Amino acid sequence: MNKKCTKYEGLFIFADEATLEQHIKECPDCRAEHEKMQKVSALLQEVKPVYMQKYARMAQLKIACAVCAMLLSGTVLGLINFNTDISDTIRYGTTLSAEDLGLPVDSYGLILVE
Ligand SMILES: [Zn+2]
Repeated sequence: MNKKCTKYEGLFIFADEATLEQHIKECPDCRAEHEKMQKVSALLQEVKPVYMQKYARMAQLKIACAVCAMLLSGTVLGLINFNTDISDTIRYGTTLSAEDLGLPVDSYGLILVE
């Protein structure tokens, strides 16, 4: 009974290049396996640039999204920080007058200066 050689995978992973080449020369099973591997390798080389381009585009998209998120959140937080009416409404539910802030005011709600 002719048993198929199973050494190829072990030699491919663990042995050095010369040992693998020597065995491929002697063994027809492993030679066929090696030719199959060469075809797969060539196919991968052919497809590689397409995938690399795809990943590069994804990276650019991620950077663009991060920049947009930073600009948007920076603008919104800046608006809230510098417009006290908005921040007062968020914190206290209403805008604060000079009287609410504990300043001396006249009957019109204006700051009283003596
Ligand atoms: Zn073999």
